[in-house]
Amino acid sequence: MAAGALPALVLKPGREKSLRARHPWIFSGAIAKVDGSPASGSTIDIRGADGAFLARGAYSPSSQIRARAWTFADDTIDTDFFERRIARAAAARRPLVDAGHNAVRLLHAEADGLPGVIADRYGTAIVIQLLSAGADAWRPAFVAALGRLDGVTCVVERSDVEVRALEGLAPRAEVALGVLPDDLTIVEDGIVYRVDVVGGQKTGFYLDQRDNRRIVRTHSSGRRVLNAFCYTGGFTLAALAGGARSVLSLDTSAPALALGADNLARNPALPATNAEWREADVFAELRALRNTARQFDLIVLDPPKFAPTAAHVERAARAYKDINLLAFKLLAPGGLLATFSCSGGVPADLFQKIVAGAAQDAQAEATIVARLAASADHPVALAFPEGDYLKGLLLAKAA
Ligand code: SAH
Repeated sequence: MAAGALPALVLKPGREKSLRARHPWIFSGAIAKVDGSPASGSTIDIRGADGAFLARGAYSPSSQIRARAWTFADDTIDTDFFERRIARAAAARRPLVDAGHNAVRLLHAEADGLPGVIADRYGTAIVIQLLSAGADAWRPAFVAALGRLDGVTCVVERSDVEVRALEGLAPRAEVALGVLPDDLTIVEDGIVYRVDVVGGQKTGFYLDQRDNRRIVRTHSSGRRVLNAFCYTGGFTLAALAGGARSVLSLDTSAPALALGADNLARNPALPATNAEWREADVFAELRALRNTARQFDLIVLDPPKFAPTAAHVERAARAYKDINLLAFKLLAPGGLLATFSCSGGVPADLFQKIVAGAAQDAQAEATIVARLAASADHPVALAFPEGDYLKGLLLAKAA
């Protein structure tokens, strides 16, 4: 290693193709040798078998994803570099902020050139998740830079997720900067939600469903709605705002349901009497509802990730088919089904096939009204199709 040069991962012959296509992950199996002795999370160069520079990234010695590229250019990786990346990501969210949204995903990992880094802004607070050794190593830089953004008074870390173990990192959840307001609320399309950034799931709220909540809202008028996997009532309140006749919301999480009911109470313009919150396992409850012959005109199915990776696909496919089949049976003729999968391991075409199989087994005829995806503040890099995790279908059952 030349003096002053960075430690380097040297790839096996023929393994540089994905990096040349700007895919940011380097798998352990592609690496011929490590030049130098880089520490976990530290900056390394990635070189082809011929020694040519390909990328500069962060070393993750315990992970199968042995390195993630920060850049494919000869950039110096320092706090200025990360500030530029954050400024670029913030500029891309400007239209959403200008449109009045005070809750946006600011940093969406690979798609923002920051593998392993998630940051969601909820009003004056920012919640970060650092999911890789490299992201974790630059924690002070991220906390400081995000804390300096206009109007931000607090940065909370919610790096309490299992994937960190693959990186050799312990979970961490704490207020990293400033003071967290007792009552953190956001406004989405005129609806107020309280976000529990300490005890809630993910960073506290599912911002990726913003556009889809709006779509559901526009189709809710006069309908009897079932919101399965409701969390804190995102789709429930959207449906009520859209004039739903009734909404039954199901979730296994009692705190999420309580926050959902509280959210409804914070929006006095919405008709609270039309909402029922039920703590229940969706798989069992859909069966129970089917046995009562109850019908709905609009069903939302937004389950958790059944298949985090391709290894879980078969079991996940069965679970998706099960709930979609039951939903088709519970739908009145002419009813709508908004069905989602946030499983990275289940691509959109497979999801559509699973749902088609469910319709067939339910003896339901249905058409695709719209194909649904994550909101614009969750971009997908063309070079990183793995980032395209959320897919959905809005389906109409034949009348
Ligand atoms: N649609 C929501 C987000 C849903 S997240 C929104 O827009 O905010 C998935 C939810 O499914 C979580 O709240 C989780 O508690 C719940 N969940 C997971 N497994 C479940 C099950 N078997 N039955 C009911 N709810 C479940």
